[in-house]
Amino acid sequence: MNNNKEIITPVQYLKGVGPKLAKLLFKLGVSTIEDLLFYFPRDYEDRRKIIPISQCRAPQDKVLVRGEIFDIDNQMTKKRFSILKITIKDLSGFIKVVFFNQPYLLGVFKKGINLIVSGKVEHNFYGGGLELIPKDWEVDNGEPLAIVPIYNLTEGVFQKALRKIAKTALDEYIDEITEFLPQQVISKNELVDIKNAIINIHFPGEISAVEQARKRLVFDDFFLFQLGLGLKRKEVKDSRGITFNVGKSLLAEFPLPFELTSAQKRAISEILEDLSSGKPMNRLVYGDVGSGKTVVAAIAAFFALKNGYQTAIMAPTEILAQQHYDKLLNWFKGYSVSLVTSNTQRKTKQKFLDADIVIGTHALIEEGIKFKKLGFVIIDEQHRFGVLQRTALAQKGVVPHILFMTATPIPRSLALVLYGDLDRSIINEMPPGRTTVKTYYISHAKRSNTYEFIRNKVKAGQQVFVVCPLVSESEVLDLKAATDETVHLQNVVFPEFKVGLIHGKMKQADKNRIMQEFRDKQINILVSTTVIEVGIDIPNASIMVIEHSERFGLSQLHQLRGRIGRGEKESFCFLMGEIKSKEARTRIKAMLDLTDGFKIAEVDLNLRGPGDFCGVRQSGLPEFKIADIIKDGELLRAAKDAAFAYLSYDSDLSKSPELRKIMIRRHGKFLGY
Ligand code: ADP
Ligand code: MG
Repeated sequence: MNNNKEIITPVQYLKGVGPKLAKLLFKLGVSTIEDLLFYFPRDYEDRRKIIPISQCRAPQDKVLVRGEIFDIDNQMTKKRFSILKITIKDLSGFIKVVFFNQPYLLGVFKKGINLIVSGKVEHNFYGGGLELIPKDWEVDNGEPLAIVPIYNLTEGVFQKALRKIAKTALDEYIDEITEFLPQQVISKNELVDIKNAIINIHFPGEISAVEQARKRLVFDDFFLFQLGLGLKRKEVKDSRGITFNVGKSLLAEFPLPFELTSAQKRAISEILEDLSSGKPMNRLVYGDVGSGKTVVAAIAAFFALKNGYQTAIMAPTEILAQQHYDKLLNWFKGYSVSLVTSNTQRKTKQKFLDADIVIGTHALIEEGIKFKKLGFVIIDEQHRFGVLQRTALAQKGVVPHILFMTATPIPRSLALVLYGDLDRSIINEMPPGRTTVKTYYISHAKRSNTYEFIRNKVKAGQQVFVVCPLVSESEVLDLKAATDETVHLQNVVFPEFKVGLIHGKMKQADKNRIMQEFRDKQINILVSTTVIEVGIDIPNASIMVIEHSERFGLSQLHQLRGRIGRGEKESFCFLMGEIKSKEARTRIKAMLDLTDGFKIAEVDLNLRGPGDFCGVRQSGLPEFKIADIIKDGELLRAAKDAAFAYLSYDSDLSKSPELRKIMIRRHGKFLGY
């Protein structure tokens, strides 16, 4: 049945792969032959580097030897733990190879068999003879020594087996892989062809060949993805948008509470250009915490309103939605502004949805929600929303304009991947009068001094956030920790002040009340569980204490610190805690040394990798076969340029259906195709 070989044939039909192995391979994400060919090694072992056994020394981390088994000795400990020692010899000498608790190997090893073994050399328990602790071994079948791939495995799948079927797949199916990259892209970027890359990534003749192969495959990852993003972007650009009249005189009607910074002005004029272009806007406003994105969004919403369209504003949390609501009520006096949350009754919801400005959480994108005349959508802190959700909201109206805002400065490389389909405006300037927050690390010994310092500041009218992190897996325990902290602060440390508590389990109304009391200065010190949610804006709060600061991620610490330093008063951030790991030290040090969110984000990305980066996991990253967003940043940019250049020549990929097919196969799900 395999006469016409199809690369998407289930891997089960490959010679040497039965249903049992196929099931295990599935766990590795391999279900077709193609998947197997694109299941790349994580490393290589150069079998040509076999050394004579006599050259083994202890300790040595990595040696590779070949020898014939001439002695086998299996010992059982009292606890029925098997220690199998086999002795192998070559012309130069012999060494013991020790296998712990793999008694079944007794049935495999026979005297006279030749083995290739890699591993580390140690002195034996008595400090005398040498022993080889194997990492990998294989029966030597006399094949010429070569570089062999090392794959990530799953239980029940052995390196040898994977190597073998990868080889079979290559031998039988390599010709079915057709080049899909346009020739001009290949030559311009000095890439090897796809067959060459696939062969060499698995079984390179020389290690240097891996580099070339890898470059090509990383490029593919990025190129295909950027092609998809570009196509999406183009679809939006090609659709008709609502043309807003954006006469400057309208701007004068907005009750601006302050003079805009030039960065804000620039962002606004970029937005207004989009709004009047006749194409739907798809723009990300990108700026550090406190840079003043809200007013930019509000002004844009004002234009929508003046053009007779509704604006929907979606915030990641109810507290934030409430805060936007309070602010916009002020700025939009005489217009209707409404707040829709998960608590809003179905009956009344529709009335709210008819307002000029509708603010809410993801309750806004629930099924069946209908706006009257939606023309503009603002999504705050959008890294929490996946691409698909973006699309869902976009479909509620007639291709509305969409503005994304994020207070989380993400490094450029990650932005290219997450937001490559968006235009971007950057607010890289703080409103005037901001002071840099003075940040200190406070060890246990200095805690009481710090409290005295805070006491004096609170006496002088300042307000304090105390943030307690997740201390355990259990919310109940976390809440208890925060409650205990509140009681302790109130009764023991600061009896003369009012200490309040806010936490995630509270009813929305209670949260609002507490926030209001804090805003009204009835509460001096506010203890909060997990996180004072991103975006909270209380300029009079100028001091922040972060308990167990070593447990927070760097970007999160930066976000938290961004809550203070908003008024004219000198602001202080105290990082309490105990540094135990090197990574924690790096984080704390970055907080003491850096204030620029972009620089902090770079450090964070390097520490954690893109998957963990500030909630990105929730929205998801595209799956790449081999590319690493951080390490391969340069190729990412090259691939992006190449993809966009290619689209300007073949704008819907109609000239290269194969390319389109592969792009959709790889990234269709992520991109919503
Ligand atoms: P973010 O960018 O983090 O969302 P906000 O929009 O909440 O920041 O703004 C932070 C604070 O700065 C708010 O109190 C806001 O009113 C104030 N603000 C914004 N722009 C200006 C400006 N141009 N001049 C003075 N204050 C401003
Ligand atoms: Mg904000």
